[in-house]
Amino acid sequence: MAPTRMRPRPRGTDLLPAPSSWAGEALCARVGRPGDWYPDEDDHDATAAAMEVCGRCPVRDACLEAAVASRWLEYGIWGGTTRADRRRIRRNRKNAARKAAAA
Ligand code: SF4
Repeated sequence: MAPTRMRPRPRGTDLLPAPSSWAGEALCARVGRPGDWYPDEDDHDATAAAMEVCGRCPVRDACLEAAVASRWLEYGIWGGTTRADRRRIRRNRKNAARKAAAA
């Protein structure tokens, strides 16, 4: 069996807006290399591989919410989403809040 590479802490969690109680359960802290979550935007295979790991991660929802809330986590795959996905989520939430306020 190949040895599991360990990282001292999940990448970027020092940039989160609030202490991340979920970071200790981050699957990306236990598999792969930190660079695996920062694929080139046109590298679809690498993006899919990172997203596959996120899909099995027990703290995916918390990771996604932290990434959507923090502009510091703009780049890379977080919570199974790309930068474009998170921009879309922010835009949709902003539009929904505007509509709710106008109603
Ligand atoms: S959802 Fe993905 S990026 Fe977030 S902690 Fe889990 S494996 Fe890491």
